[in-house]
Amino acid sequence: MASISFWGGVGTVTGSKYVVESGDSRVLVDCGLFQGFKELRERNWQEPPFDPRSLNAVLITHAHIDHTGYLPRLVKHGFHGPVYCSRGTADLLKILLPDSGRLQEEDADFRNRHNLTKHHPALPLYTEKDAYASLELLEPVANDGEPLQVAPAIRAGFRIAGHILGSSLVLLEVDHAGADGSGRRVLFSGDLGHYDQPIIRDPVAPPACDYLLVESTYGDRLHDPEDPKVALARIINDAAERDAPVLIPAFAVGRTQEIVYLIRELEDEKAIPVLPVSVDSPMAAATTAVYARRTEEHDEEYASILRQQKHPLRTHSMMTASSRQESKKLNEAEGARVIISASGMMTGGRVLHHAMRLVPNPEATIVFVGFQAAGTTGRRIQDGEPEVKIMGQWVPVRCRVAKIGGFSAHADYGEVLKWLEGMKDGVPSRTFLTHGEPDAANAMAGHIKEKFGWNVHVPQYGERFEMA
Ligand SMILES: [Zn+2]
Repeated sequence: MASISFWGGVGTVTGSKYVVESGDSRVLVDCGLFQGFKELRERNWQEPPFDPRSLNAVLITHAHIDHTGYLPRLVKHGFHGPVYCSRGTADLLKILLPDSGRLQEEDADFRNRHNLTKHHPALPLYTEKDAYASLELLEPVANDGEPLQVAPAIRAGFRIAGHILGSSLVLLEVDHAGADGSGRRVLFSGDLGHYDQPIIRDPVAPPACDYLLVESTYGDRLHDPEDPKVALARIINDAAERDAPVLIPAFAVGRTQEIVYLIRELEDEKAIPVLPVSVDSPMAAATTAVYARRTEEHDEEYASILRQQKHPLRTHSMMTASSRQESKKLNEAEGARVIISASGMMTGGRVLHHAMRLVPNPEATIVFVGFQAAGTTGRRIQDGEPEVKIMGQWVPVRCRVAKIGGFSAHADYGEVLKWLEGMKDGVPSRTFLTHGEPDAANAMAGHIKEKFGWNVHVPQYGERFEMA
């Protein structure tokens, strides 16, 4: 008998964790951290709902923390097997997991200093050191579909999912899974990429499978039809005419590289003047190096720019600040310029130093290029609050505020349907909608049922499905 158990990424977009077992073989697909609401975050602290020591292996679809951030905790709970992922994912995990450990330590420290804890002292979920220990288990594999034995009765193949660098679809071949003892194939979409994103390739067509788990983040939405590149050009041209600065808070992994790529392209096309562009984030610099190294993940356009001996992720007048001194110097610059800095929601990081100076400046423009969660400084500015607290000080919001809605690393429901159309042989006997808020997951189920007539199901947390 074989089964799939849903221990995260159901009813929410965070905490992705799926256990697949057949006989004594048992693997975990994704090992995400729950984020957002308190009742979700509390699950990170509970005993794992399965025995980590009983797992043969962990398989990771991509490096984002909501798919990987529980790994150090799993290792603390006794898991010591291999963690299979693509090479690009392994490179990014070396940046993201230690950073997540540092944030956990800072958070515990904050709660202790402000007496916000019932536990004395408050402990971090895991430390930077724990994160480094979990990196020891990484087993990077090619993102080329080649099946690999990951447990006595389970093989796994990784294929490009087009979401972020290194992201993978994972196809499991599970032995002795059917009622008649034959094998079954289970396909995980992971997070599915938005087609025609710059830099990385589009998702490859889904291989045939018996069971399919497909993400539904945008199951009830279509992306903003305005090309984000056009919006970005408009904002930069406007600032250049007024000789004024532009500040773009952006996530260091993925979004920053995408913005730099588009600015470089706009400069090449002479759609904007060449302005000084600064990327002020040590994590962004490390990530850009990974993006440059992983040539097997690049799309045709990126590869052709490389062949012309040009750097696709460098604008004509660019500076990357890695030291604090450089960052400070940048802060004191004048005139029209573009500063890209993390964190993307202005919850911390160097972007706050730039915001201190630019938020009260009526000439400056702040451009939001990603989702701003409720309660963050980014969201408050975007919502038009007259004053925000930055590094403990109240600062009046006098700058111009712009938002570009078209950036996304996820397929919308139209693109998920387009992807599914590519499945050439057979029909999955059951399709599970995962990684979506309930409304989005239900809407996506409806779209698939309507278009293909497939047998769809929205699983609940803790549900166990027996393969037949
Ligand atoms: Zn993701």
